[in-house]
Amino acid sequence: MRTGFIGLGAMGSGMARNLQRAGLLAGVWNRTAAKAAALGSELQCTAHASPAELARNCEALVICVSADQDVLAVVAAVAPALRAGALVIDCSTVGADTARAAAAQLARHGVEFLDAPVSGGIEGAAKGTLAIMVGGEAAALEHAQPVLQAMGAAITHFGPHGAGQAAKATNQIMVAGIIRANAEALAFARAQGLDLGKVIATLGRGAAANWYLANRGAYMERGEFPAGFRVRLHQKDLLICRAMALAAGAQLPVVEAALADYAELAAAGHADADISSIFLLKAALFAHAPARTET
Ligand code: NAP
Repeated sequence: MRTGFIGLGAMGSGMARNLQRAGLLAGVWNRTAAKAAALGSELQCTAHASPAELARNCEALVICVSADQDVLAVVAAVAPALRAGALVIDCSTVGADTARAAAAQLARHGVEFLDAPVSGGIEGAAKGTLAIMVGGEAAALEHAQPVLQAMGAAITHFGPHGAGQAAKATNQIMVAGIIRANAEALAFARAQGLDLGKVIATLGRGAAANWYLANRGAYMERGEFPAGFRVRLHQKDLLICRAMALAAGAQLPVVEAALADYAELAAAGHADADISSIFLLKAALFAHAPARTET
């Protein structure tokens, strides 16, 4: 299946490389053309001048762009250029309503759509081990399997269009709690005078083990937070989670607390840093701790 990739960011570049390894990648397009040119020459595939030009040359398209309006803009650009029977797989994290709107727009051109948001970070994107949460028709998922298997290790069909995004919103609520708990606990450990390397290695083998401790604990230890998963992207996800929860009649404390922290981080200039930069806020809680006396 000749597959094109749109959105060569932190996630998309790794995912496109895995499509190329699987022999599926026909071409790429990225808004900032220099990124597409560089990856096109690395992977020996065409960097197209427009999303429509890429769409005309493909049977399947994978999209991994930032937010709802970006997905809808890309879908509007490719829909008239795709042939009937083609398939669009959106791996961006967006609202379930956006997934349903994209599906409806593509259906008018006879094009299948799956919402297929992913989890596993840039590491999972590079290794092809992402968890992929799918919404859409079972037949479209069957059609998409070779593409999804090239990028992920766990592919789960959750239901109709939008159900994949609902599962991803669930994931993002969990991540909000986990990243804050890690940051708060590691800031506490440092204030106790503990060696963070030892804490991460040892607690990572016990009941508190989690992906963020294993993969982002070292960022907190070093005080360096390269994206990764940008603060502004998790903010965007949690605003989606907030709206979905409110529509179901609930306000979620974990979501609200994380949004407040991210607003503070963004105001301090960290919107493009990895979300593990939340450690900066937690470390500041201990800024006035009395100096420890060694015994
Ligand atoms: P990123 O590094 O910021 O890359 C975003 C990509 O989207 C870039 O290629 C950007 O193009 C493109 N883009 C943004 N707006 C666009 C528009 N209007 N039209 C066309 N292209 C547009 O983001 P990322 O970390 O790869 O994340 C991509 C998606 O995956 C997001 O929805 C995010 O929430 C989700 N996600 C991220 C992670 C993670 O750990 N990073 C994990 C799971 C899911 P330019 O190069 O021109 O800026």
